[in-house]
Amino acid sequence: MARRFEGPKLVIASHNPGKVREIADLVAPLGAEVVAAADLGLPEPEETGVTFTANAEIKARAAAAVSGLPVLADDSGLVVPALGGRPGTKSARWAGPERDFRLAMRRVEDGLAGKPDRRAHFVCAMALGWPDGHCETFEGFVFGRLIWPPRGWRGFGYDPVFVPDGCERTFGEMEPEEKHALSHRADALGKLVAACFQG
Ligand code: IMP
Repeated sequence: MARRFEGPKLVIASHNPGKVREIADLVAPLGAEVVAAADLGLPEPEETGVTFTANAEIKARAAAAVSGLPVLADDSGLVVPALGGRPGTKSARWAGPERDFRLAMRRVEDGLAGKPDRRAHFVCAMALGWPDGHCETFEGFVFGRLIWPPRGWRGFGYDPVFVPDGCERTFGEMEPEEKHALSHRADALGKLVAACFQG
């Protein structure tokens, strides 16, 4: 039985305003009063874990210990089986210090040269952590394939080269609502909400 969120305040441990907004919209109807970690001046811990779950829990526990409040934290990335699972938890780092995702997409494409298997999936681990160190963590997925050249610049990161299964367009070509309905973040958050906020 998962521990339940008893509210009302919930910290979102992301310093990315887009992500905070997306998560806040999804949890607002559940009666949570959302506060962004950046607004509380909480530091961003180093992501030293080797799994998405470990990194999400590092972020959730660090922010919960400092704020004294329950915290929602996520970690996500692109997994390419033909590249041995890379870039994986290092998805952001493949873009280099300039956060150049054209470069990161090119690195993935170069790695796939001569390999027929173009499958890929995004993973998101969503952790709800409490000040006593307890965490409830759920993983979400979206499966698809990589295309080249990149198409559409609506999303972020690897969106322009990722076509979800059952679709023809890349995440980069979709309206935000369309992508969010399919995304690994929505999948993970849906599982967490079902376990910790409802029922
Ligand atoms: P983090 O979860 O903030 O550590 O971000 C991980 C990295 O994974 C991002 O910088 C992107 O490169 C990649 N990523 C995660 N989710 C998505 C997505 O929905 N679309 C495209 N790239 C993503």
